[in-house]
Amino acid sequence: MIKINSFSSFFIANWKLNGNFKFIDQFTSELKIPNNVAKCVVICPTSIHLDYIRNKKNNFYVGAQNVSQHKEGAYTGEISCASLSDLKIEFCIVGHSERRQIFNETNTNVNSKSSQLIEHDIVPIICIGETLEEKENGETNDVLSKQLEESIPKFSNSDNTIIAYEPVWAIGTGLTPSFEEINNTHKFIKNYNNKYNNYKIIYGGSVKANNAKEIVSLSNVDGALIGGASLKSDDFTKIIED
Ligand code: PEP
Repeated sequence: MIKINSFSSFFIANWKLNGNFKFIDQFTSELKIPNNVAKCVVICPTSIHLDYIRNKKNNFYVGAQNVSQHKEGAYTGEISCASLSDLKIEFCIVGHSERRQIFNETNTNVNSKSSQLIEHDIVPIICIGETLEEKENGETNDVLSKQLEESIPKFSNSDNTIIAYEPVWAIGTGLTPSFEEINNTHKFIKNYNNKYNNYKIIYGGSVKANNAKEIVSLSNVDGALIGGASLKSDDFTKIIED
């Protein structure tokens, strides 16, 4: 498994259901990865493009966007942790709010997927976050507590798991919490249980070239999960540059 703690920050590009071979060729030829080896840059294309982009690796790592909770068997269309491991994939996003909302994934599913990833030496990037309604009802910390309790495997630790705080209402909307709110929520997660003190906690939700530096420099933020802006090589280059 990748040594998470050898990096100071993580920049995870979530391409969602976008990209093709031509796009990958152009993106990887334009992308400039910083010399700073303490920055870990991970690109998560569609599953079908994992192997193609893996063969173009150039100082970045490759991650999947999802994995099956089943090991093998009669689960048509699913992709197993063992298959990701065969491809030498290092990271996998788990429990993204789109998976939770559109595909009805539960905390239990997320926990099971994450456990199996860890068993296969793949780092789960476990997403948690509140909806706008939950935020407006003042329930953010309760929602996050439940997600932490139920989604994070018992044997996960700061060497094998990354947590992504992604307020659902900030994803793809151009809206973000204030910098202070982001930092305080990350502090809440780190202090929720001693176990989380040293976890890398990254922020996701409308991270752009014009706010990434300030967000990632917050004291409790260890990087970013980037959707829309990670599809433009010049924007993503700006986000990860030193
Ligand atoms: C995401 O997909 O996890 C995400 C944060 O998207 P965006 O950066 O577009 O808000």
